[in-house]
Amino acid sequence: MKAIRVSDFGGPDVLKLQNVADPKPDSGQVLIRVKAAGVNPVDTYIRSGAYARKPNLPYTPGMDAAGIVEAAGPGVKQFKPGDHVYTNATITGACAELALCEESRVHRLPAKISFAQGAALGVPYSTAYRALFQRGAARPGEVLLVHGASGGVGIACVQFARALGMTIIGTAGSDKGRALVSAQGAHDVVDHRMVDYEKQIMSITGGSGVNLIAEMLANVNLAKDLGMLAQGGRVVVIGNRGTIEINPRDAMAREAGILGLILWAATDAELAEIHSAIVAGLENGTLRPVIRQELPLADAPRSHQLVMEPGAYGKIVLVP
Ligand code: NAP
Repeated sequence: MKAIRVSDFGGPDVLKLQNVADPKPDSGQVLIRVKAAGVNPVDTYIRSGAYARKPNLPYTPGMDAAGIVEAAGPGVKQFKPGDHVYTNATITGACAELALCEESRVHRLPAKISFAQGAALGVPYSTAYRALFQRGAARPGEVLLVHGASGGVGIACVQFARALGMTIIGTAGSDKGRALVSAQGAHDVVDHRMVDYEKQIMSITGGSGVNLIAEMLANVNLAKDLGMLAQGGRVVVIGNRGTIEINPRDAMAREAGILGLILWAATDAELAEIHSAIVAGLENGTLRPVIRQELPLADAPRSHQLVMEPGAYGKIVLVP
């Protein structure tokens, strides 16, 4: 099969399309014929060699994929060849024509969801669910700020929160991104590149502040976030690319919580909860992944550049 291979950590050019042997499913494993693979920022951190968890070289990148079950290993109970599925974790890498997965990491893809949309589910929708419900204790009627709402995780946060009955303020850095965030259900949209955007957010809340913040770039925003929280508010740190100085008094006075999130810390039980919620939301129409661009697998280097550029607009997926 064809697969993207990384033999040395480095820039996007280390992503090479190569021929490798087809994987074979062992006991409890499912082999997926990949129709689309999702590109996440974390794939670029891993490729660069900067991420805390490094794969052994050479490796095939990618965690998220959707496709058709090609073969099921002995003991697999829930899937058979021909089933439409998505995965949030592969054994052999998602950016390939075939991907091997543990059965527990494979989930049914409802018929009305495209493969490209299926490839947008694993990391982004799991992270959004974990941020709102497993870390942030989101409740109907609360005001949520999705700080960075135009990307994969942000759009998922907006859709989950809207279905729950929250009041949502979403931010994006481009006109197109803000229009998308609004169309996905945010009640108000704000430009996070504007100086003093936090005044606009406080004004939207009538000065009360927001109850929960899903934060995509904490090293830039955390200090301002603490100043925008209502009493008892929480910030869930989803994305972070550096360090920042904060005034702890802002958290103290509001009895606020700063909650970290790392998706790979989710337990099997939490993942089962997450994917039950995702499949239900896809079926009832509240979750609708937005695809910005589909690129051929050979364009993996370009996809890694694009996902790190400003002007997010949903997901970028690779098509083998
Ligand atoms: P993405 O699709 O690339 O979207 C990035 C988002 O961040 C866009 O909405 C972008 O808006 C926004 N952004 C850019 N500058 C910002 C700023 N100054 N303030 C607020 N938002 C800003 O990425 P993603 O998949 O949604 O992931 C978002 C972040 O979460 C990434 O850093 C990713 O690594 C991280 N993440 C962490 C976990 C975890 O386990 N902790 C899991 C998944 C993702 P514009 O482009 O419109 O400016």
